Amino acid sequence: MENGNLNHGGVDKASKTITIKGILGLLMENIDESDKRRVISLGIGDPTVYSCFHLPKVAEYAVVDALQSENFNGYAPTVGLPQTRRAIAEYLSRDLPYKLSSDDVFITSGCTQAIDVALAMVGCPGANILLPRPGFPIYELCAAFRNVEVRHFDLLPEKGWEVDLHAVDALADQNTVAMVVINPGNPCGNVYSYQHLEKIAETAKKLKILVIADEVYGHLAFGCNPFVPMGVFGSIVPVLTLGSLSKRWIVPGWRLGWLVITDPCGMFRKPKMVERVKKYFDILGGPATFIQAAVPRILEQTQEVFFKKTNNLLKQTSEICCERIKEIHCITCPHRPEGSMAVMVKLNLSLLEDISNDIDFCMKLAKEESVIILPGTAVGLKNCLRITFAVDPASLEEAMKRVKSFSQRHAKANSTTTTTTTTMDIPTLI
Ligand SMILES: *Cc1c(COP(=O)(O)O)cnc(C)c1O
Repeated sequence: MENGNLNHGGVDKASKTITIKGILGLLMENIDESDKRRVISLGIGDPTVYSCFHLPKVAEYAVVDALQSENFNGYAPTVGLPQTRRAIAEYLSRDLPYKLSSDDVFITSGCTQAIDVALAMVGCPGANILLPRPGFPIYELCAAFRNVEVRHFDLLPEKGWEVDLHAVDALADQNTVAMVVINPGNPCGNVYSYQHLEKIAETAKKLKILVIADEVYGHLAFGCNPFVPMGVFGSIVPVLTLGSLSKRWIVPGWRLGWLVITDPCGMFRKPKMVERVKKYFDILGGPATFIQAAVPRILEQTQEVFFKKTNNLLKQTSEICCERIKEIHCITCPHRPEGSMAVMVKLNLSLLEDISNDIDFCMKLAKEESVIILPGTAVGLKNCLRITFAVDPASLEEAMKRVKSFSQRHAKANSTTTTTTTTMDIPTLI
């Protein structure tokens, strides 16, 4: 019998889509059992494993109190508790030239579910969506399951990983429904300027598409550019803003995220859209009610010093990362990270003896040094690497030291004449 009914092109495509977790799993399998203890992962962005990245105490108390009150053991409305929606509307409105209302906010199970909802809402037969390259593969995966065609525009490393707006222009047609902007960026660590975001909004307006703004790293910016939410340009182009507590509050396991319709001018036939989104939420579970109930207090009472501390630490570890990269002859960093928790670096294979590509590099690195780094292929860019620096400074130093000795061991004989000045016998003066 033919499996015609089961042969959904999109699902086939989905099962072939590379995911970050899939590749990291393969890398882990490559490490011998006896070496597992010395593993340092610069692969996944989960800083909770390092004690220097710790959630704010107030968040913990807020959840405990919500749970102990015994008021939040029941179902929440599928779109989220009213007080949670209100708190998130107020939190996001602080940075906008207009006020969001609770009705604009939908509570999701992390930003991951917000991505799925966004794609479900814009997807329709024949639709295509524009995604950044490099990017975040969950978008490709969701698009594949929804049968939404994906078209990639490049991020330009020499321009601080800005969006190639000419490419966006050239890729779009009448079936294009949206473009995705991840800012602060994963995997590149970019933080876009006000001017660049405005240009993105103008381009999307011209193309009559909406912007899906992934701001899961919102406010995790430690370079020159401050974080500007895409919603600031909501009166130019409608924006679906996606976010969560996961990264800024360092609680990825709490699964508390949001999808927000930032469309102050009601350009995208808001009532109809809102009805559609509401209906869709009847299918979703959403995060635990007591976690939702803790959100107003978490958003109101987390102290500024907590955020400052996180950003300072990320700035410090990103700098360690960049300095150590300079000492490793086969990798270069095209643009210093200014936000988020990761940086993209280029791998120069011509300087290496027996490494065929980025995946091979990461596989051998895992096996020989027990260091996990994500191959660029996993985020759409071959022969690059994504290094996560949300790691405690000592582990990061150790990991980079191992990457360096790995690279030296695999260097081509005639390519070792690089700057190895640091090991000279100069007495230290301080
Ligand atoms: C981590 C991450 C997400 C997912 O966030 P969760 O709240 O953990 O589901 C979404 N988008 C990007 C770019 C991320 O890095």
